[in-house]
Amino acid sequence: MALATAAKKWMDDRAERKKAEDTDRRVATIQHKLLATGCNLHDIDAISGHHLVKTCAPLKELDWAYHVLPQLKVVIDEDRRARMFEGHLLDHVMTYRVTLVKSFFYNLLSSVASKRRDLPDPQTVCLLPICADLIILPDNIPVTEQTLIINRAAIVRDLRAWVQEERRRLFEAFVEGRHRLVVAAVGLGLLKEFLPLVTGWCLNNACHELAVAQFTCQQCGTLCPSARGAIRHLNNAYFCKPSADLAGKKFTFTPTSTAIHLLILCGLSVMTTTADHLDQYDTSFKCLNCYTDYVHVGKWRTCIDHHDRYHGATVPRFEPVTKSEDRNESRHWACARCSVFYSGTRREVVELHAKELHGVKRPRVPGDLVYIEQ
Ligand SMILES: [Zn+2]
Ligand SMILES: [Zn+2]
Ligand SMILES: [Zn+2]
Repeated sequence: MALATAAKKWMDDRAERKKAEDTDRRVATIQHKLLATGCNLHDIDAISGHHLVKTCAPLKELDWAYHVLPQLKVVIDEDRRARMFEGHLLDHVMTYRVTLVKSFFYNLLSSVASKRRDLPDPQTVCLLPICADLIILPDNIPVTEQTLIINRAAIVRDLRAWVQEERRRLFEAFVEGRHRLVVAAVGLGLLKEFLPLVTGWCLNNACHELAVAQFTCQQCGTLCPSARGAIRHLNNAYFCKPSADLAGKKFTFTPTSTAIHLLILCGLSVMTTTADHLDQYDTSFKCLNCYTDYVHVGKWRTCIDHHDRYHGATVPRFEPVTKSEDRNESRHWACARCSVFYSGTRREVVELHAKELHGVKRPRVPGDLVYIEQ
């Protein structure tokens, strides 16, 4: 009996060893084939636990070409998209392509500088399917500056379409979430004056451009002070958490009591004042909730951010201050008439430029100068 048990165990062990050897052989063959098609070691890692890899079945050529490889490619492509911005040493080919797309976009910007404020972050451009599909190609397929130049018209078309679609989504988010304006007004004790207006809220196709339209990024939780700010914020390497793709809803409409409070302080309409209009006013405000040595003074965008960050649920209290008290030297302004101030500069400088170079007596937002969101 003992002999029979020992024999069975020996047979079982041998079968297990054979199975393990066959699996190792299959894994090695697949790795070899993938490396030959331009995959790198990160890609190999991505499929190492896949059920079509970790099995002892012999790998037949037809099965590889029509079944295994296509399925592994889906996993590899998905993993490549997810690690596009990780910049790991082993992904140097993909990192190089990301740099190529970014510099292609910067070159494009210099030719449309006045529209720069409407365009997204370079990392968002990398995630456009037309660019992402080039970036994640196997390492051995050449992607060069020339590749992007050949695709220039299609990239610009897709870029515009994405911006338009994102603006439509922000509009939709505003319309769907406009009851939150009531909540923000209640926070200021304004419900009685505010409520009758809510039903007649200006719901034209640009309501997302109003000064009360703040949006929160779903990828990182950042509160963006305006619709343009939201689009430019998305996927930024420093401020956001880049996504693996551009699908899905990226923002929720989260109007703040601070924006309503600042508009009322300026004597401007809460219902119709746009972000551009509030920029035109150029008022600075001092935070009355600050009780430390540091008291925040700034323009409306930084006040919204400051209150949200430091005073949270408390009622916002600000007062307008003269320019001499303004410590915020914002370098976010650009000429709307030409490409001179490509990287953004101080408002006074752009205003002087508009007067001297374009002969504008009283430069205005957005016709002569525009604020470029971070
Ligand atoms: Zn974000
Ligand atoms: Zn404060
Ligand atoms: Zn100019």
